Amino acid sequence: MSPDHGQRFIFDGHPVRGQMACIEDTLAQVFDRHQYPARVAEQLGEALVAAWLLGDTLKLDGSLVLQAKGDGPLSMLMVERDSQGRLRGIAKHSDDAALTQGEGLQSLYGAGHLSISLLPNRGERYQGIVTLEGNSLAEVIDGYFARSEQLPTRLWLTADGTRAAGMLLQQLPPNPGEHIEPGYWEHLTTLAATLKPIEMKTLPAEQILHRLYHEETIKLFDGHDIAFHCPCSRERSARALTSLGVEDLTALMNEQPSVSVDCEFCGAKYAYDQTDLAWLTSDNSAPGSDQLQ
Ligand SMILES: [Zn+2]
Repeated sequence: MSPDHGQRFIFDGHPVRGQMACIEDTLAQVFDRHQYPARVAEQLGEALVAAWLLGDTLKLDGSLVLQAKGDGPLSMLMVERDSQGRLRGIAKHSDDAALTQGEGLQSLYGAGHLSISLLPNRGERYQGIVTLEGNSLAEVIDGYFARSEQLPTRLWLTADGTRAAGMLLQQLPPNPGEHIEPGYWEHLTTLAATLKPIEMKTLPAEQILHRLYHEETIKLFDGHDIAFHCPCSRERSARALTSLGVEDLTALMNEQPSVSVDCEFCGAKYAYDQTDLAWLTSDNSAPGSDQLQ
């Protein structure tokens, strides 16, 4: 089986659920065409798994986007999970030595923040923002959940240049007949924290759950495949051109026979020429999101 899959589980009789995910091929496609320093690749891998895990807890017809921005050497990182659990991601960084030597998130992002956005195909968008501080993305996301009105949620993430993996636990409102035993959630999260990165990346879900929770009755559901997918299109990529404004775009198109826009996520190339100018400069060009290409 491809390592790129995620699996849900529940603790029988307790209002707690979990998700696990591991990606390898998806990561290779995200890293393709980019030379990311090791620490950037780790952040990107962890963010991709986090987006998959968080998205899997929601019934969202649309996409979930995690975006980190800061004034440090890793200035931007963005990952997106669509409603089918497909992922894409990108990072922008300088050549700063801190990218290979530093420690802690601030040595990467400087003063930065992470936004968690839900972009439904219909209905209102939601965005939560949290400061990027501490030692890991998981810590930042945990802190976001701890301070917000969301369900208690914890994440454990790990990534290297070839594989990324993670686990999420979430406490649900109890069903009739269920109750939350005092200390049970803490007991589960304390055990989860003993999971080693190498175990998360290499062991099947059954073994991880047995290793952590052999005293619990757990129901493990069938796995879902995870894959790379970029929803870019000729229309969406045109936004880079339409943002120039009618005047500059017309001048640019008059200077050269065609203008090409490359998708930074997947490398797709979209070329536009004089025959496209009419729709590019019309009011209703570039439909869709104002944020994502
Ligand atoms: Zn693309």
